[in-house]
Amino acid sequence: MKQIYYKSTRGNEKLVKSAEAIARGLSEDGGLFVPTSIPKLNISLEELREMDYKKLAFTIMKEFLTDYDEKDLLESIEKAYDEKFDTPVIAPLVKHGENYFLELYHGPTLAFKDMALSILPYLLKNAVKKLNINKEMVILTATSGDTGKAALEGFANVDGTKIIVFFPQEGVSEIQKRQMLTQSGDNTSVIGIEGNFDDAQNGVKKMLTDDSLIKRLDDNNKMFSSANSINIGRLIPQVVYYFYAYTQLCNKGEIKAGEEINFCVPTGNFGNILAGYYAKKMGLPIKKLICASNENKVLFDFINTGTYDRVRDFVITMSPSMDILISSNLERLLYAISGENTSKIKDLMDKLKKDGKYEIDDNMKGELKDFYGGYASEEDTAKAITAVYKTTNYVIDTHTAVSYAVYKKYLVETKDTTKTVIVSTASPYKFTPDVMKSIDSKYIGLNDFKLIKELSKLTKEDIPVGIKDLETRPILHKTVCEKNEMQIQIEKILNI
Ligand SMILES: *Cc1c(COP(=O)(O)O)cnc(C)c1O
Repeated sequence: MKQIYYKSTRGNEKLVKSAEAIARGLSEDGGLFVPTSIPKLNISLEELREMDYKKLAFTIMKEFLTDYDEKDLLESIEKAYDEKFDTPVIAPLVKHGENYFLELYHGPTLAFKDMALSILPYLLKNAVKKLNINKEMVILTATSGDTGKAALEGFANVDGTKIIVFFPQEGVSEIQKRQMLTQSGDNTSVIGIEGNFDDAQNGVKKMLTDDSLIKRLDDNNKMFSSANSINIGRLIPQVVYYFYAYTQLCNKGEIKAGEEINFCVPTGNFGNILAGYYAKKMGLPIKKLICASNENKVLFDFINTGTYDRVRDFVITMSPSMDILISSNLERLLYAISGENTSKIKDLMDKLKKDGKYEIDDNMKGELKDFYGGYASEEDTAKAITAVYKTTNYVIDTHTAVSYAVYKKYLVETKDTTKTVIVSTASPYKFTPDVMKSIDSKYIGLNDFKLIKELSKLTKEDIPVGIKDLETRPILHKTVCEKNEMQIQIEKILNI
């Protein structure tokens, strides 16, 4: 098999194998690791259709992780996609009315981040072993709400690791906050910051590339890594469910083998949709990747104009996991559509840092044709929840609602009737106030925990185990800091 190497998007030409890219998280030059080529999947659809999630995960992931032992990879997949998920299907594709939803929230923390973060700790453990690293791994994580809990759940009590999560104190849902603050495990730390997700992510990226800090860690036998989607180990497992959605559609007789489909993806940091782009490059018949934004619509503007401009007000919306103005993984797409021109990417990223914006050239704009950018206002989002419930009795969360609303706009605008999968990224149980009030005004004013019970009554389903006793779990993390104090907190936790 052809060995796949990884290199930085910003010009550091050193090639590394996947284990090193995963262990490091971010390249020394601040760039993101990208595969030097996207492997083509040379397996017939007939064969792929027969595979369950784990088999498919192995088939796809081994194409990217060519330096991993197959035995280790198989074992990691077995451990990651086990009974933690509330269905053996792992990522069910369901049809309600005329719409297809890919439910990616059946893992322990009820959001799609579990799809990758349940396996990342194993990938990292194997990487550390392969590279003979005898240091404690310190996993730095910024979260807009869902990554934090999923990373905590994945890394809690994993030997040889510490996991530190920063979240925007005022920018996550009550349930998301409570999920994180009640996390047990001696190696876990959760810190609220007086700032937004971009502040948290910038702080984390800065520390990951701060030479003197890295040196001090090294002196103390520690090393940084990241659980954010800047880590390529987050993206690769996400490619799997695009294929799985496709094979489920085939197996249900909804599409013919080989037929093109669209995916509509609620997007923030551009990690989920980028995995879809990689799936397309591997050979999956995808026509359009519809990028759905909320009112923080930097990506909508970018896809439609070629100018990325983060200089604007940050809006706190009912889909907080997408409240982001700096979409890190877009850098990996820019790399791909610039003909892998790393000096150009470095230039664009420097501009973003300095001026808060950049514009891509016409060639690159032309290469954006695989994407369609749309956005949903808060009103559109609420109406989408109402409409789906009224017509099909199916309850979707606020992020999925953004995706649904954008897909409906896409239909009207393009009249493209290609079958489209609405990627469903969170359980409605995580965002009950906005979900329930869109369904019926009688729920307005009830607290999140009361609403969990009401939602369970409404759907006649049990409350998901992940949040069942959340209200009564003790709060274990109480630290809050200013956004420029993140490093001080790290120094305190690590005793350096
Ligand atoms: C993280 C998240 C998103 C955005 O995904 P990206 O990979 O950051 O684009 C959307 N919805 C939910 C529920 C999320 O947790």
